[in-house]
Amino acid sequence: MNATLERQIISPRYEFDSLNPYQPSVSKTQQNFIDKIKLNIDNNSYTLQHSACPCEANDSEDVIVSEIDRYGIPLTSVVCNRCGTVRFDPYLDEESLADFYTNMYRKMYAMDVDDSEDYGDYIASQSSYSEKLLQFISDSLTPASRLCEVGCGGGGSVKFMQERGYDAIGCDYDVAALQAGRRFGVKHLYYGDLSALPAEQKDAKFDLIYLHHVFEHLDQPLKFLQDIRQYLTPNGKIVLIVPDISRIDQFGHLPALGNLLMYLHIAHKYNFSVDGLYRIANRAGFSVENMEFGSSSKSSSPWSSSPEIWMQISPNMTQESTTNLELSSRSSKMLKYLQRTEALFSLGLCRGQIAYKLSALASPNKIVSKLRRMMS
Ligand SMILES: [Zn+2]
Repeated sequence: MNATLERQIISPRYEFDSLNPYQPSVSKTQQNFIDKIKLNIDNNSYTLQHSACPCEANDSEDVIVSEIDRYGIPLTSVVCNRCGTVRFDPYLDEESLADFYTNMYRKMYAMDVDDSEDYGDYIASQSSYSEKLLQFISDSLTPASRLCEVGCGGGGSVKFMQERGYDAIGCDYDVAALQAGRRFGVKHLYYGDLSALPAEQKDAKFDLIYLHHVFEHLDQPLKFLQDIRQYLTPNGKIVLIVPDISRIDQFGHLPALGNLLMYLHIAHKYNFSVDGLYRIANRAGFSVENMEFGSSSKSSSPWSSSPEIWMQISPNMTQESTTNLELSSRSSKMLKYLQRTEALFSLGLCRGQIAYKLSALASPNKIVSKLRRMMS
């Protein structure tokens, strides 16, 4: 199917080269898992299947922009010229994804945590976005509000909300993360999704359901929103927090500044555009109520300073589409933005790269100590 699509590979480093494959800088353990995944794709143990952009565009509006992910795994990325969302297409089918998340994901991403102290840090770091989340939705919660975090991991944010007095629960498919959270005293953590809640939470309705860096992992984000509506109270809200590739030239984690390749990795099926999120929300029967650009935190982890889209949506009572048509004229600019950013990145001239260099110059102590290290 992709054979007929237009190709505008961002730059030669995004091309798959079987003779001279891309070498990511990862540990030996990570590389072993990367090799396993490549082998699984190569020998068809993993099945790749096509799916259209959830904005409802025609496939013919897709343009191929990359043939590898940041680990050198041969996955094709396309940008949807209707909404600007970038996605892997084709992508792992359901069975392959289940194996990937159960047996590969945490180890391959070096997120496997056996040490309980590490988990304490991880759980504590999750409170950074919780504070920001409360500011983002401040006037829509009351002390009696019920909250649910989908994809809560170890439940650090759930714990934060419980300590603020909210009736909060979390759910996740990561058994080890849930167990660690419980060990650290986080209550009401459940395995699976909202449809699998136990008897005492059955029929639960929530005033806020939130997903922090989860929505971009979902294979079927449109279906997810359609299904989750039944778990909201009449005035309930959903908050989606996702990476924002339309601002990668400006700020964020240094190796990812202006570097699209760092944002293309197997676990993130999507890199949503704002327009794409609007269209999916509208198709699922939601209105966009609030939106912000920014980052979760400046300090808690390297990636948490990277650009994000924060979007608050609620069920659309009027059933009218609220798609902002002005947005659609912006969407086709995503491809041009990514191409321009790559050109600047390769010269070290992205706005964020320049700002970083200037800040290094402004602190000569850093340079002196670096020189000392080099000479010793
Ligand atoms: Zn689209």
